[in-house]
Amino acid sequence: MAYTNELVFSALQRVKYPGSDKDIVSTGMVEDIEIDGREIKFSLVLPKENDPFASSLKKACVNAIITYVGQAARVKGNIRVKSKTGTASVKTKPVNLQSTKMLSGVKNIIAIASGKGGVGKSTLATNLAISVAKQGFSVGLIDADIYGPSLPKMFDVENQKPEVFKSNGVDMIAPILKHGVKMLSIGFFVNPDDALVWRGPMATSALKQLMNQGDWGELDYMFIDLPPGTSDIHLTLVQEVAVTGAIIISTPQDIALADAVKGISMFTGDKVNVPVLGLVENMAWFTPDELPDNRYYIFGRDGCKQLAQKMGLPLLGQIPIVQSIREGGDTGKPAALDANSIVSSAFTELAEKVINQIDIRNRKTNPTQKVEITNMDGCSAAK
Ligand code: ADP
Repeated sequence: MAYTNELVFSALQRVKYPGSDKDIVSTGMVEDIEIDGREIKFSLVLPKENDPFASSLKKACVNAIITYVGQAARVKGNIRVKSKTGTASVKTKPVNLQSTKMLSGVKNIIAIASGKGGVGKSTLATNLAISVAKQGFSVGLIDADIYGPSLPKMFDVENQKPEVFKSNGVDMIAPILKHGVKMLSIGFFVNPDDALVWRGPMATSALKQLMNQGDWGELDYMFIDLPPGTSDIHLTLVQEVAVTGAIIISTPQDIALADAVKGISMFTGDKVNVPVLGLVENMAWFTPDELPDNRYYIFGRDGCKQLAQKMGLPLLGQIPIVQSIREGGDTGKPAALDANSIVSSAFTELAEKVINQIDIRNRKTNPTQKVEITNMDGCSAAK
């Protein structure tokens, strides 16, 4: 099938400008499409010179075209970047990641991971971050879950745009402060239906930007909500920053536990060597709001607790299935905010155990080293 301008436009309509809910075609950022056989060229017109998102956007455009126009399309290197302020071609200057120490003001970087999707990882990351902030600590949260970035919804900031400003000549992104937590999400970059386009290099480059260009300042704890399973994002994280420890979320169900074990091995494997601070059992039982003392073990009983015992890891908490937790996530008012909710104490306890465990880890073990991975096969435990 011949490539046409329409095909290219419709592929690029799937890419949105970071922080905006509009796609790059409808905002007039795509110009001068030229098609010569399999070669596709076009200009990306960005709002300003040295736009911090230029390189991420170029990668997203390449992915969108390869995915939706055709695998054989040759587009890499053919995207010219121009700025709206002038027609001269702008050479995008990526931030020199070596010259700035990523997250240098952050005392503890904690990965929140799960083997399986849908076990409540983002829900717990949100409520944990809020509960730790409620204890008076400065807390940041990065939503790196490329397959389902849900934190903007859970924090009710879907329509907010993180502000970009210049500091010492470098573009910085101001995290959004909500419920006492500074947060940035890969969801501000991604159209929820188009996670596919943002996989691989695009996703890892977006995570690096969130870590490196986020204006995080001094933080006691930075939580990173990772995608489920093991992915390039996990490898990027452990290569770019020294992760203090990982928290693994699972339901008590066998199938989730089997995947949780894989997640644990990825962090503790020789090549990565990030300490696992402990496991959290989510959906440990169902408790109806009106019968708070009743417990129904829908996904099995104490599966995660037993796994933690078997692996010699701390069990950091058991969080029940409660309607208000789901509702709090959907309405942007996480349950941990409500001191009267029947689960608020469970989240406070979880926060205390996590803080305590980080403290123990920091006293007992040397700081984690960044991982040098030259060969991805070296991480076979992660697969
Ligand atoms: P993940 O990040 O692991 O994919 P989410 O945090 O998005 O999972 O949770 C999946 C769904 O389960 C969401 O609708 C969320 O509101 C709901 N959920 C998670 N934990 C609980 C819980 N303890 N009680 C009730 N609903 C929950």
